[in-house]
Amino acid sequence: MVNGQKANDKCKSYIRKKMMQEIIHVENIRKSYIMGRQVLPVLKGISLDIFKNEYVALMGPSGSGKSTLMNILGCLDTPTEGKYILNGNDVSKMEDNQLAEIRNKEIGFVFQQFNLLPRLSALENVALPLVYAGMPKKQRNERAMEVLEKVSLTDRSHHKPNELSGGQSQRVAIARALVNNPSIILADEPTGNLDSKTSFEIMEIFDKIHDGGNTVILVTHEEDIANYARRIIRLRDGIVESDKRKERVGERIT
Ligand code: ADP
Ligand code: MG
Repeated sequence: MVNGQKANDKCKSYIRKKMMQEIIHVENIRKSYIMGRQVLPVLKGISLDIFKNEYVALMGPSGSGKSTLMNILGCLDTPTEGKYILNGNDVSKMEDNQLAEIRNKEIGFVFQQFNLLPRLSALENVALPLVYAGMPKKQRNERAMEVLEKVSLTDRSHHKPNELSGGQSQRVAIARALVNNPSIILADEPTGNLDSKTSFEIMEIFDKIHDGGNTVILVTHEEDIANYARRIIRLRDGIVESDKRKERVGERIT
């Protein structure tokens, strides 16, 4: 029985590898910051493959390089060395304008601090990426309402950020990340400013996004949050310390 289960898991893992489409390929990524005369190495050779519709939690102690890596994966920053292929495009060699274009198409970013514009309503915040994409106002608003509906916030569409709770603000930020239909959602400690009940509500939304076919990568400190994911990558001091996938839904990775 135990052997049967093992063989079954091995078989599933083989089928998954055959069927999976690589969406992120990073090879020996290094990132250093120059501080005065000193060079501070932060990422020290990271290689990873992430496949379409994977659900990944990135963990590791504070200062281990998680946000630096997320910013590179999200095309907000470029590596000092190494290769990054995003959905078949070599982004490690791209200029800023090309990076911005691929970021708008492929990536939705969610931050711990929500990063909403305070003077704009929820609807206007969500529609903002569509302004940059040049979409006419009527269509923008329709599309923004559609995604607000996905995060159950249509009744708050005209509220300003200071009239929203933390959980509602993060739902607006998630809607904004989804509005361009990106293939990848990156979230850097999305529940870091929320109480645990609200955090789990937010995680239910990430679950739905994953079920809808998106690739989801999130940074978290909390094991309970990380266990929503199907794969946990741990960084330590700028390198990958461990990288484990769940074979079964519900299994916990420690
Ligand atoms: P984590 O998200 O895992 O807490 P970060 O990626 O934010 O870690 O930071 C990793 C290290 O890089 C830290 O020591 C931090 O001080 C340093 N660092 C991050 N961004 C910069 C920057 N722009 N300039 C200089 N050092 C930085
Ligand atoms: Mg960080």
